[in-house]
Amino acid sequence: MNPLRMIIMGAPGSGKGTLTSKLLKKLPQIHSLSSGDILRREMANGSEIGKMAKSYIERGDLLPDKFMANLIQAELEQQKWLDAKTSFLLDGFPRTGNQAIELESVLVPHNSDINMVIELDVPPEVILNRIANRWVHISGRVYNLEYNPPKVPFKDDITGEPLFKRPDDNPETFKVRLDKYFAELEPLREYYEKKGVYVKVSGETSDIIFPKLLSAVEAKVKSGL
Ligand code: ATP
Ligand code: MG
Repeated sequence: MNPLRMIIMGAPGSGKGTLTSKLLKKLPQIHSLSSGDILRREMANGSEIGKMAKSYIERGDLLPDKFMANLIQAELEQQKWLDAKTSFLLDGFPRTGNQAIELESVLVPHNSDINMVIELDVPPEVILNRIANRWVHISGRVYNLEYNPPKVPFKDDITGEPLFKRPDDNPETFKVRLDKYFAELEPLREYYEKKGVYVKVSGETSDIIFPKLLSAVEAKVKSGL
C-alpha cells in the first residue's frame, strides 16, 4: 500500500498541533513535521536559521518561500521519509502557492506526491478567543488553560518543564498572522483541489473536528490511496 503523505492547513490557532497529536495517537505509523516547531527549535538553539527566523516570526511575517522549502527538504531527506513506505503529515508547510510548487519539486524525484490535504475551517472569532489561553512547551506540545490544561499549572505534562507564551501570540501579531493566512489560502486551495486531494473539515472546537478528520483519513487509507 502507498504511504499517506498529507498536509494539514488551517489558520494560526485553528488546532493543527492539537489535532495532529490526537491523530498520531490513533495512527502512530504516521510521522509528522511542523514548520513552526522546527523554527522555534532553531531559535531556542540560537542557530543561524533561528536568528534569521526570529525577526520574521516576531512580526508575524512569513519566511521566504525558498528558505522554507530548503529547510523542509533537508528535514524530509534526512529523516528518510521519502521512501516508498513512510507515511507523513506536514503541519505549517506549504502555506503559499509557491511553497506548494517547491514541495512538489522536492517530492517528484522520489516518485512521491501529496495525496491528502486537510483544511481546518474554524471561525476567526473562535480562534481569537482561544489564543489568549494558549501556552506551549518547547517540544511543540500545546495546552489551553481552559480546554486542555496541563496537569500541573504552567508545567509540561511529560517533562515537567515550564510552559511559555509564544511571543507571536500577542493580539497585534496574531491579527497579522491571521490576515496573511487568509491571503494565501485561495491559491493553495486551488492548487490542491485541481489534484483532487483537498478535504475541508469545519467546526468550532477540536473535539468536533477530530472525528471528522479521523474518518476522512481512515477512508483515504482504506481507499489504498
Ligand atoms: P499555529 O501554530 O497556531 O497553528 P501558525 O500556523 O501561525 O499557528 P506556526 O506554524 O507555528 O504558526 O508558524 C509560526 C511562524 O513561523 C509563522 O508565523 C511564520 O513566521 C513562520 N513559518 C512557519 N511555517 C512557515 C512557512 N511554511 N512559510 C513561511 N513562514 C513560516
Ligand atoms: Mg502550529
